[in-house]
Amino acid sequence: MTRRALLDAAGALLDTGGPDAVTLREVGARTGVSRSAPYRHFANKETLLTALATNAMNQLGDTLERLAIGDDPPEQSLRAALLSLVAIGRAPRTYDVGLDKTSIQVDRGFVPTNEWMETTEPGVYAIGDVVAGLPQLAHVGAMSGLVVAAKLSGKYARPVRRDRIPGCTYTDPSIGSVGLTEAQAKEKGYQVKVGKFPFVGNSKATILDSHDGFVKVVADAKYGEILGVHIIGPGATEIIAECVTAMELEATVESMMFTIHAHPTLSESLLDGFSSVEGMAINV
Ligand SMILES: Cc1cc2nc3c(=O)[nH]c(=O)nc-3n(C[C@H](O)[C@H](O)[C@H](O)COP(=O)(O)OP(=O)(O)OC[C@H]3O[C@@H](n4cnc5c(N)ncnc54)[C@H](O)[C@@H]3O)c2cc1C
Repeated sequence: MTRRALLDAAGALLDTGGPDAVTLREVGARTGVSRSAPYRHFANKETLLTALATNAMNQLGDTLERLAIGDDPPEQSLRAALLSLVAIGRAPRTYDVGLDKTSIQVDRGFVPTNEWMETTEPGVYAIGDVVAGLPQLAHVGAMSGLVVAAKLSGKYARPVRRDRIPGCTYTDPSIGSVGLTEAQAKEKGYQVKVGKFPFVGNSKATILDSHDGFVKVVADAKYGEILGVHIIGPGATEIIAECVTAMELEATVESMMFTIHAHPTLSESLLDGFSSVEGMAINV
């Protein structure tokens, strides 16, 4: 099987589904060749996409000259067009909502609250992106609203805990994180124990052909308290929820080590991650 035929197959996949659709395995399936051919020619998805971009530039020929943006060489302009990054920030919009008629003093536009989201003006609550000290995330805004609603209606409620908020980055590989990093835990004076498990040892990652990344568990050495979990790899933004739940329920490293996880699943990497804190991961 030639590199040319594999590139054509990858191009066809791109046409139908965008970059996410292109995997070396699917390129192989489309051309009906053995699994090893795409890997031999491209090694991984990134080198395949680079080859496709180079291919597109070569095919554009003269047209490429007309693509130049400003003084940039055309290749650079095309790369910029192919790899555009849009970064949009957020800001509290509190300047015209009538806070000047209350006792509330905003801090750079953010509204200070107590743990129940109540502002300094009794009976006035703030939720979402405008709250000082909370990350500007949809799930944090939603939960702070639920806390207020539950509290005001006399139902069971507990405050939003800053150290139990999952942070997710929807990249490839994806990132999911909760709690303290190893450095932060040490800074806070914890005697830290760390476990790290690479996705290369996870069977579902093998099935998905996605081995990049690892699970890192930061724990307190004395009591086995889970202080933080940091995942980079396949499904990280999904499986981080289990770690948040474990921390919310005050599970220890030991209790997680003996929690049975189905095989083959990405969540199994957490079992190995927690077990690696005690040097007992079985799939390394
Ligand atoms: C590009 C982008 C991507 C994001 N991606 C993620 C993500 O992947 N995951 C995540 O967790 N978070 C994400 N966020 C953040 C998330 O959108 C916010 O944290 C969340 O929407 C905050 O909710 P909120 O209710 O506080 O504010 P908003 O959702 O902004 O709602 C505020 C509402 O109030 C209205 N309003 C404003 N002023 C007035 C006024 N004077 N009178 C009446 N109404 C008014 C607005 O029109 C708006 O409808 C993203 C944000 C951006 C900008």
